[in-house]
Amino acid sequence: MSCIFCKIVTKEIPAQIIYENENVVAFNDINPAAPLHILIIPKKHIESIDDISPADADISASMFTAAKEIAKNKNLPDYGYRIIINNGKAAGQEVFHLHMHILGGKDNLGPMLQR
Ligand code: 5GP
Ligand code: ZN
Repeated sequence: MSCIFCKIVTKEIPAQIIYENENVVAFNDINPAAPLHILIIPKKHIESIDDISPADADISASMFTAAKEIAKNKNLPDYGYRIIINNGKAAGQEVFHLHMHILGGKDNLGPMLQR
């Protein structure tokens, strides 16, 4: 398996991991688009939203509860934060292992994610 995010899950390649539970791992994005830019990924290799099956319901839910937990730990709710999932090449997905971006840490995150 040559997936870079799977290798972050197995710790074969390093990442600044800031949260982990049985279903998900969260780590700092290597090329942050905001002062706080964290990626939440399922430990299971799922390529995109299109590949989520009904049996993955717990995993999908874990991604959202992890986002809430991380936002709380980072004191983001006071300022607000943005969750982005790029789904497919045309939407800007570059890594084909499902991931949720959490962006925050500045007053104005803008109308869209500008990169
Ligand atoms: P996408 O464009 O697929 O939605 O987002 C992929 C994200 O993964 C990008 O924001 C990129 O900076 C981040 N990324 C790619 N490779 C690595 C890596 O090896 N380590 C970390 N921490 N982030 C990565
Ligand atoms: Zn993977």
